[in-house]
Amino acid sequence: MGWLEGKVALITGGGSGIGKALVERFIEEGACVGVLERSKEKVKGLQEQFGDRVVIIEGDVAQLEDNERAVAETVQAFGRIDTFIGNAGIFDYFVTLPDLPKDNLEKSFDQVFGVNVKGPLYGAKAALPELLKTKGNIIFTVSNAGFYPAGGGPLYTASKHAVVGLIRELAYELSPKIRVNGVAPGGTLTDLRGPAALGQEMQTQSSVPDIENLMKATNPLKVVPSPREHTSAYVLLASNKDSMAITGNIINSDGGLGVRGF
Ligand code: NAD
Repeated sequence: MGWLEGKVALITGGGSGIGKALVERFIEEGACVGVLERSKEKVKGLQEQFGDRVVIIEGDVAQLEDNERAVAETVQAFGRIDTFIGNAGIFDYFVTLPDLPKDNLEKSFDQVFGVNVKGPLYGAKAALPELLKTKGNIIFTVSNAGFYPAGGGPLYTASKHAVVGLIRELAYELSPKIRVNGVAPGGTLTDLRGPAALGQEMQTQSSVPDIENLMKATNPLKVVPSPREHTSAYVLLASNKDSMAITGNIINSDGGLGVRGF
């Protein structure tokens, strides 16, 4: 018996990395899953891999109507939504304030905040009526950059701090009916891209030279978790039975960055 038997989750950015690992794990735990994903290429493989336990919605998390369509199609397929996971995100590959291009600054900001902040906000807005019916829960993927400097440049770090704010505000506003929490992974090898406005739409984290050793060196546990290794934190937070008293919390799955010495 899985932890999420009979439950339904809507997960954004399920096409690769942490999102795809979540789709796999939630299905193993007994759930059915709706996936809102932007990449046409990644969408193709998902249906084949997961069959009738998933419904795939191609769309952009930064568009409210795409989030609404994802909610409607998930409910049409599976009858309800118990958990909304706002996970899709893009990085900025550490571009610092001096290096941010003036002529593309506004576009770069809009693209990073569009995916990383509008995405979870619009998803939560669209899923809210369904979550009220099920007394469900919301989980956002944050990042070590939601807590500390040097986990990105100013755009990414500010966007993930904003996600922490969203979690706190929504946990306050939506209690007692809906629990709202987050998971904050640290460095993980995935297909994470950057904004087109910074020319980073094809850049992937896994292709940064020596990235695994760089990631290991920064955290006290000296680990680089796989996407799968973050998923238990989400399963716990998605299970009302197992985390009924937890809201407004973020599980830091980052190898212990908070206990680095100074
Ligand atoms: P990933 O690129 O492998 O997965 C992100 C998925 O989201 C991709 O399938 C991508 O196509 C999709 N996506 C991107 N923009 C979208 C949009 N506008 N609409 C719909 N789908 C969109 O990267 P990942 O590392 O698995 O990223 C998942 C989350 O984890 C992100 O929020 C990221 O910020 C966060 N995170 C990643 C790391 C890391 O080191 N990889 C660390 C901390 C936090």
